[in-house]
Amino acid sequence: MDCLFCKFVSGEISVNKLYENKDILAFKDINPQAPIHFLIIPKVHIPTLNDLEKTNIALVGQLSLIASKLAKEYKISENGYRTIMNCNSDAGQTVFHIHLHMMAGRRLKWPPG
Ligand code: AMP
Ligand code: ZN
Repeated sequence: MDCLFCKFVSGEISVNKLYENKDILAFKDINPQAPIHFLIIPKVHIPTLNDLEKTNIALVGQLSLIASKLAKEYKISENGYRTIMNCNSDAGQTVFHIHLHMMAGRRLKWPPG
């Protein structure tokens, strides 16, 4: 399967890991849209939110839990941060392995463009 994020998980392509457990991996976005821009992914390949099944919904909860853990670690939990998951073309999804964006470090606009 030709999936960049699966290659990060398998180690075929190296990535600087911010966090890892048996289910989840987090790393810095290569093209940050804010001073802090992390990606938090499940290790299992799920192309989009549309492909989520009941057996892996706990993973999505873990993505948010890890975001809050990283927020404390990077001291942004008080000032705030945004988590977002894009699904398919209208949302701008470009990597088809679900990932939670975590952005912080500046005043983020709402609504997003
Ligand atoms: P999305 O547009 O929601 O699918 O987000 C994909 C994200 O993956 C974008 O923010 C990209 O900058 C990021 N990205 C693409 N390639 C890499 C890479 N090699 N390492 C880290 N992040 C990447
Ligand atoms: Zn994948």
